[in-house]
Amino acid sequence: MITSSELIGLVKEYDPSANGDLVRKAYVFAMEAHGVQKRASGAPYFYHPAEVAKFLAELKLDVQTVVTGLLHDVIEDTNVNYKELEEIFGAEIAFLVEGVTKLSKINYTSSKAHQAENFRKFLLAMSKDIRVLIVKLVDRLNNMRTLSYVTSIEKRKRISLETLEVYAPLAERIGMSIIKDEMEDLAFYNLHPHEYSTISLRLDQIRNKDHNFVQNTILEMKKVFNDAEINAEISGREKKVYSIWRKMRQRNVSLEQINDIVAFRVIVDTVQQCYLSLGVIHINYQIMPGRFKDYISIPKLNGYRSLHTTVIGPLKQAIEVQIRTKEMHRVADEGVAAHWSYKNDELIAKKDEQKNYSWIKSLLTILQTSGSPEEIMDNSKLEIFENEVFCFTPNGDLITLPRGATSVDFAYEIHSDIGNTCIGAKVNGKIAPLKTVLRNGDQVEIITSLYQQPEASWERFVVTGKARACIKKFMKAHEKSEFTSLGLQLVKYIFNEIYGGFSEDLIELKKFSCSSLAEFYCDVGKGVIPLGIVRSAVSGSEKQVDVSNNYICLIDFTPGIAVHFSECCTPILGDKIVGIFVPQKGIEVHATSCECIEECKSVMIKVKWNHEDEADAAFIVRLRIVILNETESFAVITNVISENGASITNIKVEHRSTEFFDLLVDLKVKSVNHIGEIQAALRTCSNVRSVRRL
Ligand code: MN
Repeated sequence: MITSSELIGLVKEYDPSANGDLVRKAYVFAMEAHGVQKRASGAPYFYHPAEVAKFLAELKLDVQTVVTGLLHDVIEDTNVNYKELEEIFGAEIAFLVEGVTKLSKINYTSSKAHQAENFRKFLLAMSKDIRVLIVKLVDRLNNMRTLSYVTSIEKRKRISLETLEVYAPLAERIGMSIIKDEMEDLAFYNLHPHEYSTISLRLDQIRNKDHNFVQNTILEMKKVFNDAEINAEISGREKKVYSIWRKMRQRNVSLEQINDIVAFRVIVDTVQQCYLSLGVIHINYQIMPGRFKDYISIPKLNGYRSLHTTVIGPLKQAIEVQIRTKEMHRVADEGVAAHWSYKNDELIAKKDEQKNYSWIKSLLTILQTSGSPEEIMDNSKLEIFENEVFCFTPNGDLITLPRGATSVDFAYEIHSDIGNTCIGAKVNGKIAPLKTVLRNGDQVEIITSLYQQPEASWERFVVTGKARACIKKFMKAHEKSEFTSLGLQLVKYIFNEIYGGFSEDLIELKKFSCSSLAEFYCDVGKGVIPLGIVRSAVSGSEKQVDVSNNYICLIDFTPGIAVHFSECCTPILGDKIVGIFVPQKGIEVHATSCECIEECKSVMIKVKWNHEDEADAAFIVRLRIVILNETESFAVITNVISENGASITNIKVEHRSTEFFDLLVDLKVKSVNHIGEIQAALRTCSNVRSVRRL
């Protein structure tokens, strides 16, 4: 195990000004906190964080990150808490350690491909700071190295699958291929031990058959570069077992057919020398067509840059050659971590190099605008996914939604049927209104009912296109029948007005160029055929007609499609009401006391509730309640309201003084009688000054 002095020495090599005492303090603190805890291998637990810290120092990360490596398991596995860490090590380190702890608590449960991608995004979003992610990746790599000590095969496979599907791709995304490569091989070994050993055995055979192949090829290539007077480091690197297996699967070829098992690397000082080297190789060795790739002018998304070519090498075998500069080489191995390098001024100075991380847009901007490495550390908070939230189903499936999404969006995201029948939601186990805006990590359980239908009002708060489209589709499907039935009611209404009776035989469809009664009713309901035309087509009899019993009955309609309750006076069951016909919209229902009906006398239509049964009716009303500023006032009014069977949907303190609170309270009630009872009950309370329905 690395000693604290060795670790400090490692850090001081690349950052002489680093605070060695801080490292020593964390080293001792973590060692004491983990005490006698043991790893699955039987080794003291502290070996693990010490190894993680060492790896981070080898990546030349800043001292805070190295200290986080030492402390990364103390919150989760010992009785040390965040506050304590903050007091001893400061807010930044406490924040980083807490970040790693949070990531550790997220368990990947599904192996569906889209879930894996969501999980990767979720982990990134939760990371907040890219250093948290780097520590987590190094932590996972170290756990993978000692995975063989875990006795449960199930657990080994689960952790390996998670590593392969979530963590290795994340390491690749931020360009840390040294971590990615080792993770993949370790995971592959645990998941498919048979395939792993077959491939590595074959690799041994190939190596033994021609054991000087790599060395001799390098020697020959060195001569060629010497002649061309280019100073190049040349090395050969065998591909990893997992990446060979993946290639075999992707290209459907055998091991022998893969000619790039060993990649030869030519490392030079400058970009110009890269292209010169390419020339040297192509002049001396026959190129294999179709295999040349220029990742210098077009880098990979994770920032990888190199020239790749495949040629018939000096020993007359096809070989892959990768040509790159030293900086490109470091980025190829360490990715984003390479940018944290303290003394590699050259890298920081070259803005071109940094353009490569285009996928981390915010990080990129910071990398391009910041001068010193310290500033980069400070600003590189991960904010890439600020427009998304990540929520879970009760089964642990991850649902990605745009920020601002509600439970209804969540329901539609699962399935349109779930959305169409949702009546409520439990967010983190608690009942919450459907319009509740969801937050990162919320667990959402949707409650459905066969009798529920989408409400037009949902359209106002949903944010996903899917939810909006489903609600619209549902409304459209019901629109036709709603407008047809409204049309029928209107035609009856007009006939009753003029004839004092109604018969379909009296309708001359030809007059309205309609082919069916249904079409006619629908056109009337939508206002395509104006009510005036219908009226004048019905030749009136001269007899006096009793119209006192002529009205349109509202119970037959679903609110929000062809019948709308006006928002200016919010009429509720029992209120005296009147309808106003608006073409394309249907009937707007207003209270007879509403001011805006004055101008609409001509299109006024008598309507009635005809709700015999209050049981399933629900309307929102707003009360203005003035209460005394006393301790129990709130409790008293909320009690009265709930005792009277109404629920509060919103409450707002509009004004407060030393004596009074002026409240706006929205209630869900059944009818005008119901709200009347509640108002009366409120007025009897001594704490209530006044109650008024708005
Ligand atoms: Mn750990």
